[in-house]
Amino acid sequence: MELQARRGIGLVAHDAMKKDLIEWVLWNSELLMGHKFYCTGTTGTLILEALREKHPDESWDFTILKSGPLGGDQQMGSRIVDGQIDYLFFFTDPMTLQPHDTDVKALTRLASVENIVFCCNRSTADHIISSPLFMDSEYERTHPDYSGYTKRFEDKHVVNEAVESVKKKKKK
Ligand code: PGA
Repeated sequence: MELQARRGIGLVAHDAMKKDLIEWVLWNSELLMGHKFYCTGTTGTLILEALREKHPDESWDFTILKSGPLGGDQQMGSRIVDGQIDYLFFFTDPMTLQPHDTDVKALTRLASVENIVFCCNRSTADHIISSPLFMDSEYERTHPDYSGYTKRFEDKHVVNEAVESVKKKKKK
């Protein structure tokens, strides 16, 4: 039998959407078993409690980060760029302005930078988890190549120019 791929799954929900995400996880708990989870503080604590209640004998691999507005979203971002997260389910509240709105924007951007699967609502989450690719151990997401970007200063002489310019100014 082909082994199921072990995915890194990020779970976050704004307060008004927490119940929705907990329900979604419970609804799909069999499909989610065996994967590795990264969650912001409150969301993760609630989800883990719900999962333990439903499956008392199952062990769950949960990394619980700080609460989102206290830096947990940024920690999630750092896990994304470290390549630990393949899927991010972030159920956002469309009706309330969040004090940490910029964090959502930052995560949206990093999700694109790393080409991970990312969604903000339950119906999209339903479609993702029922996709055959979710279970496909052969499927490997494309990791974008940013070497052109990271090497953009290689043939420029910025350091020399700065050093020379400081030397000249000192001589004056
Ligand atoms: P929380 O953070 O899970 O700690 O409530 C969620 C969020 O980023 O809004």
